[in-house]
Order: sequence, then structure tokens, then C-alpha cells
Amino acid sequence: MIFRQLYEPETSTYSYLVGCERSRRAILIDPVASEIEQYLALLQSLNLRLIYTLETHVHADHITGAGVLREKLGSKSVVHRDAGAMCADLLVTEGVTLQVGDLDIEVRHTPGHTSGCVSYVMTDRVFTGDALLIGGSGRTDFQQGDAGKLYDSITTRLFTLPADTLVYPGHDYQGNTVSTIKQEIAKNARLGGGRTREEFIAIMRDLKLAYPKFIDKALPANQSCGLVVERD
Ligand code: FE
Repeated sequence: MIFRQLYEPETSTYSYLVGCERSRRAILIDPVASEIEQYLALLQSLNLRLIYTLETHVHADHITGAGVLREKLGSKSVVHRDAGAMCADLLVTEGVTLQVGDLDIEVRHTPGHTSGCVSYVMTDRVFTGDALLIGGSGRTDFQQGDAGKLYDSITTRLFTLPADTLVYPGHDYQGNTVSTIKQEIAKNARLGGGRTREEFIAIMRDLKLAYPKFIDKALPANQSCGLVVERD
């Protein structure tokens, strides 16, 4: 497996390039529009052909690169059917497995941050988007967010993965790059150490977060795979 963790500093977003060594086919998870040139150079230098862009959800903080990559490289954009992005080529749901060369990518529906959030499981690792973050979780106060649902998603769909599964999140604001399921079950500040559903809901209710900076631009753009022309 070819693997690169890519970081966009303005919104602290992680994107992931995963490629099959044999077939040279690849996927990009949560590509960011401003980073397209970097992706093109990386794909070329690694001699990889981009087959899919996979969204973990419709993002509120950055614009996806899925639409531009589709135009430039012919890649197909993949998103959960409840995400509200009808521009996508492939609408997936719980239990779907995508195959790209020798890579198997299992889709797990993990709603709560948004209703259309998914995590992607690949052998020894899981890409959790904004459901499970390292030491934390995605916010649940907009985009059909629901703290109870997020607790259920994380505890039943992610914490049940093998303990040494690597956790690669959609963001990190402290410079962490990777965690494990075992570490999150033990130490996650919001859900770890045996916290109850009620405790988690109370923590999320009391966060009182600021309105996201880019949401009014990012949401409509991402529902069109990042290709919306700006309106006044
Ligand atoms: Fe998000």
C-alpha cells in the first residue's frame, strides 16, 4: 500500500492519498480544492492513476477538490447518499466495499457530525473524517448534527474495530497525526474512559463553538462537488 497523509494548514485538514502498488491505482480521501497542484504532482511522481475521490462528508470548512480532479483526471467522486451532494458519481451507504486494484475500502455510516458522514476502513486503518478526532470528536451543532447519534456511531461502528486499528482523522488542531482505536477508547476526552451517552451529549451541548468561518461558502460549493461559481 502506498500511503501519504497530506495537510492543509488554513483549515487544519488532513487528506489522504492511498495507492495500490501493483495496479498503480489510487484514491484521495477528502481532497481540498486549494491543494490540487500538489495532488497532481504527487500522483505523477508516484506514477499513480486517481480512480476515486472519497468524501467523509460534505465539509463546512473547506472546498472539496473532487470536482476539479474529476475534470482534470476523470476520477469519480464518492459520497454517502444522505450527504446531499447529488453531483457525486457514486452515492454509497453502509456496508458497501469499493475495490481499487488490491485495495478494499469498506464504507461505514457514522452519522452525528452530519447525517451523511462515513468512515472508510482499509485493513489496518480507518479514516474517520469529522466523526472521531484524536482525543475529541466533530462538532454536532449544525448540518443535522446530533450528539446522541455521534456517540452511537463512534461506540458501535468505530470502537468495535480491532484495538490496534490506526485512526486517521479529517482534522487535527494540535499537530497529532495518527491514533489507534485502543488509545481513543482509553483516552478520548469526550468519549473515552467509559463516558456515557448522557455525559457526551452534555459535553457537546456545553461547547458553545463559534459559527464556522467558511460555512456559507463551503456548504453550497461542496454540494456541487466544489464547482459552484461564486454568487454575490
Ligand atoms: Fe466537517
